[in-house]
Amino acid sequence: MILPGASGLGPGASGTDAHAALVPGPQIATPSPQAPAPSPGLSFDPPSADLFANDPIQRAASLQDVATLIAGCRKCKLCEARTNTVPGEGPATARLVVIGEGPGRTEDETGRPFVGRAGELLTKILEAIKLPRDQVFICNVVKCRPPENRLPQYDEIAACLPFLYRQIELVKPKVILAMGGTAAQSLLSTKQSLGALRNQVHRFRGIPVIITYHPAALLRNPNWKRPTWDDVRIAARLLDN
Ligand code: URA
Repeated sequence: MILPGASGLGPGASGTDAHAALVPGPQIATPSPQAPAPSPGLSFDPPSADLFANDPIQRAASLQDVATLIAGCRKCKLCEARTNTVPGEGPATARLVVIGEGPGRTEDETGRPFVGRAGELLTKILEAIKLPRDQVFICNVVKCRPPENRLPQYDEIAACLPFLYRQIELVKPKVILAMGGTAAQSLLSTKQSLGALRNQVHRFRGIPVIITYHPAALLRNPNWKRPTWDDVRIAARLLDN
């Protein structure tokens, strides 16, 4: 679409004309006889309604379909050393989605999220707000284990996020609990620290998001259990509203 007053760089504009018009400097662009002189304005192509219609992740109709796509994914280097993909687990009707960072050793071995020590603590945290673990959809930002449990890298997160987005779209939870900096920053597209992000109700596509510490961090630093409990209670209250 070309807005009134816009010429765009249409088929008539040669590469040289386009370059001269865009680069500031003493050069004077001489319009070719065929192309009209550019006038100020904006030109853009509106996305068509079916821009992503052929994207298999967007077309995945169920959590199982998403898991199947994840199982075959080779979009980043984390696929090379994985034993199993760890898509996440829980009912499609879950009211709460919990998001962690990425699978650890036990998760990689079993294909299930949060089943190691951090997972045991997460299960207890959920029980404390009267939510049996099997009523919650639990997943991670990246679905394959980073070697030696290092932080997932930017390109790995970028490759994996569409799966998480689709999972959230399918579950349509009432509340999201993002645990740890990687989950918080990836979901909210921010570089702000966990400390700065806590104590607020954020939104992801309209869904309230509560940020708290990662269970593995709580195992290392029990002083964070109290503030985590405060955060989780806020999530529980939002669920009950
Ligand atoms: N840590 C995570 O972030 N996710 C898991 O599944 C296990 C540990």
